[in-house]
Amino acid sequence: MTIYNFSAGPAVLPKPVLEKAQSEFLDYQGSGMSVMELSHRSSLFEAIIQDAERLLRELMQIPDNYKVLFLQGGASLQFSMVPLNLAQGKKALYVNTGMWSKKAIAAAKALDNVEVEVIASSAEDNFTYIPEITEAMIDQDAAYLHITTNNTIMGTTFAAIPKAGKVPIVADMSSNILANDYHVADFGIIYAGAQKNIGPAGLTVVIIREDLLGLCPVAEPMLDYQLQADNNSLYNTPPTFAIYMAKLVFEWLQDQGGVPGILKADREKAGLLYAAIEKSALFSSPVAIDSRSITNIPFITGSPELDKKFNTEALAAGFQNLKGHRSVGGMRASLYNAFPKQGVLDLIAFMEAFEKENG
Ligand code: PMP
Repeated sequence: MTIYNFSAGPAVLPKPVLEKAQSEFLDYQGSGMSVMELSHRSSLFEAIIQDAERLLRELMQIPDNYKVLFLQGGASLQFSMVPLNLAQGKKALYVNTGMWSKKAIAAAKALDNVEVEVIASSAEDNFTYIPEITEAMIDQDAAYLHITTNNTIMGTTFAAIPKAGKVPIVADMSSNILANDYHVADFGIIYAGAQKNIGPAGLTVVIIREDLLGLCPVAEPMLDYQLQADNNSLYNTPPTFAIYMAKLVFEWLQDQGGVPGILKADREKAGLLYAAIEKSALFSSPVAIDSRSITNIPFITGSPELDKKFNTEALAAGFQNLKGHRSVGGMRASLYNAFPKQGVLDLIAFMEAFEKENG
């Protein structure tokens, strides 16, 4: 039976990447060692981390005045690092579009000397849409405006990045980094946990405009962007194997035509599933049309019992991790870059057969 992994993260990785890692697993480039066994100060690993950065810069066309950091602690640690480094003694603005935004807001609020203002929220409508943000809503004295570009659980995406004047936009891009043709220059900071579109868990990518480094004194060395940047992400031992895997994923992405190529494929996959949902008399999308994500696609039958039946039968047929997040129920198909189109076609056929029997 073919297994399709619809997990929201850690998520499916490209098969050629896993095969390449397997082929190099025991003996990396004739060193007689696995990448996992290499010193992070060795020339072999130095080449890996430099290649990973170079490839990411090429893929996202990252301007020279941005640093790329390979950190740990997940996107969740960025919820604290961002306000610590940028907003002490200042006001920070947030848009609340779901559970991850809420956690980012809570982490900023936990700091004594940061004033947090939530300028817009879709909480009253179960986060099923992205609120409109206008420049007039943005206090130009604020340290930053934080948005979650793609809301993994709710399946919403900002259709356009807000205009924030001179206030830098900080983006949690965990679930759609490298799956959209964003302009890095529109952001002050982009951060993402790796475990969806970049590689295995344990690595966090931070892309930060240089003038945002060293703004606030940060007493904790590991949480200081400036220190991490000064040490090229090698202040301490970085997640070496995860960085190696990221490098392989970036190479694979280049083979797919870079971001434009993968975006075309992602749009096609999502378009097929949304069309099937629209056509169906049983399944529907809970998300407002203009806010729909192409990476995380929730759908429901409207009946918790039928959702449960669908999830049970889908699982038995090899469709893994389709169950919606515990906070929303229903189903959710996460169609990250590495997810194969055939998996979407097979899911649609399965949904049609289920509808015939249960509709
Ligand atoms: N933000 C978003 C949008 C996410 O989807 C997730 C993880 N699913 C997180 C933050 C938290 O990431 P981590 O587990 O890497 O801390």
